[in-house]
Amino acid sequence: MSSIVNLSVQQREHGDLIDRVFAECGVDVRRCYQCGKCSAGCSVHICNGMDVSPNRVMRMIQLGMEEEVLNTKSIWACVLCSTCTARCPRDIDVPRVMDALRIMAKKRGITKGFYNASVFHDIFMNSIIRHGRVYEAGLLVSLKLKQSGTMFADLPIGIPAIINVAFRLPKLPPKMKNQDQIRKVVENCMRIEGEN
Ligand code: SF4
Ligand code: SF4
Repeated sequence: MSSIVNLSVQQREHGDLIDRVFAECGVDVRRCYQCGKCSAGCSVHICNGMDVSPNRVMRMIQLGMEEEVLNTKSIWACVLCSTCTARCPRDIDVPRVMDALRIMAKKRGITKGFYNASVFHDIFMNSIIRHGRVYEAGLLVSLKLKQSGTMFADLPIGIPAIINVAFRLPKLPPKMKNQDQIRKVVENCMRIEGEN
């Protein structure tokens, strides 16, 4: 990120960000002293999969840079592997923080950081609600349609995957016992989280 940030304004307008992150996930980001060990061990960051390194994400929270951090690709690119947490001398659960930031971004409809991950999240949860578990073939078709407008977008490079879908994955949505109960669990969670 190369834009200039007025830290006084950030602190005045979003100074409570660190407390809201704590309320969402129970992790106190104040404890981070920017040693950078999390970023040095993060394979996603090392492979250039993030636009902002994990330690800088922590720093942005400390500085109240709410808009900037919720718009990063990093919060969606994190694969929640916990390598960073194992390396952190301050026992900071970085993936929990990343997840909390995703929840906050999702509640505000901010998907600019990583639109595809947000779309995947919606389709995945809809599949759970409708079928009680993930229906892989349906998920794949919905994902392609939403992301590119056609399920044939990756056809030239996706032949093996298509063969897998055609011959190995279930053709029809799964039938689960107590499917209604799973839907109620999800609906209750969403109601408690204020998403309904
Ligand atoms: S390893 Fe822990 S203390 Fe060090 S920068 Fe990362 S989160 Fe902060
Ligand atoms: S949990 Fe996320 S931030 Fe931490 S090492 Fe894994 S990918 Fe990187």
